Amino acid sequence: MSQDTAVIVIQNGREKPIINKHPWIFSGAIAKTRGNPTPGDIVTVESHSGQFLGRGYWNPKSQIQVRLLTWQNEPIDAGWWERMIARAIGARQAARVGSPTSSAPMLDMRRLINAESDFLPGLIVDQYGEWLVIQALTLGIDQRKQEIVQILVSLLKPRGIYERSDVDVRGKEGLRAETGVLWGEEPPPLIWTNEIGLALAVDVRRGHKTGHYLDQAINRALFFDGIFKEEARILNLFSYTGSFGLFGAAAANSRSINVDSSFDSLELAEQIFIHNHVGEHGEFIQADIFEFIRDQVEEGERYDVIICDPPKFAHNAGQVDKAARGYKDLNLHSFKLVQPGGYLMTFSCSGAITRDLFQKIVFGALADSGREAQIIRHLSAGDDHPVALTFPEGEYLKGLLLRVY
Ligand code: SAH
Repeated sequence: MSQDTAVIVIQNGREKPIINKHPWIFSGAIAKTRGNPTPGDIVTVESHSGQFLGRGYWNPKSQIQVRLLTWQNEPIDAGWWERMIARAIGARQAARVGSPTSSAPMLDMRRLINAESDFLPGLIVDQYGEWLVIQALTLGIDQRKQEIVQILVSLLKPRGIYERSDVDVRGKEGLRAETGVLWGEEPPPLIWTNEIGLALAVDVRRGHKTGHYLDQAINRALFFDGIFKEEARILNLFSYTGSFGLFGAAAANSRSINVDSSFDSLELAEQIFIHNHVGEHGEFIQADIFEFIRDQVEEGERYDVIICDPPKFAHNAGQVDKAARGYKDLNLHSFKLVQPGGYLMTFSCSGAITRDLFQKIVFGALADSGREAQIIRHLSAGDDHPVALTFPEGEYLKGLLLRVY
């Protein structure tokens, strides 16, 4: 089967990553364009010698001019989108977060489509109960939003689909931020959802990402694994709406101190604790964490479990050194605050910082702290955030669970 599209011809010698199924074609790899594509159109990609390489959508405004959708000579039509969306969603049916030994109930929220890593570049779809939230990161997806919405409606019959395309990367595609209802009912101000039996409130309009850090669900579930002692003293740094602290409080009858710079997030965190009947197990402190941890070290505080889940420090390769200093500072002070025999769960969600580099940074912090630590687990995002082996850029979240002496 072929499709009547414009053709992007790749420079001689630049075909290798395409043949290896990396989904991105940068403008520098393109020799010429045949035919007259309109931005957003499906194009066919050929080698210098006219060999078919793949098909994807085109945006001349973006440095990533083509995002490949297929490496087979098949049409990218309505049936193709439906098959690929159904495949990604179908793969989540078995997705269960929580320890294999616990009888944790299924969650009713998850990432359904993880963009490039689900072979649907530029498209994120998250589920919060009966609601879906969609992010169109590229022009190619933005133009097909309505078609994608119709497929999601027929497959999942949600109450409503809300758009949260208010992400910076859209600027690189020549797109502005867009938010609002795409289909069905307006979502309520807070959607109450279930994460392994705990009720979490998600604000899909104003919350971070699509409202919640779904990627960390599997790591919050560690509190149900019996690793940490009961009645522990937990410090949840960069708490956002307090999810890690809530799991600690509920799973191990512990007390958590949740620290964030955002007053609104902490206010919602407190509401969520109260809703789960653990209001007295949570403390909520608005502070800059770089100052807070210094004060805590000075005061000689000690915690049984510390979670350190900062925002993305390195947005590109040029920011890696500065980011590394930030991670080192946080981890150095965190090590000093762990009760001997306690745990530090430490993360980086910077794609530009590799797992290997992150471990080296944490090692450097440990050396300066004068403490000792063991790796108990290597942590990453949950099963609903797969990483395509052909797209290592998709592996942004990495973490370590350390026991500290
Ligand atoms: N662990 C959270 C997600 C953390 S997101 C969860 O599982 O839901 C990062 C958070 O860090 C955001 O809520 C942001 O408000 C907060 N933040 C960023 N810089 C900060 C700083 N310097 N001090 C305190 N909080 C900060």
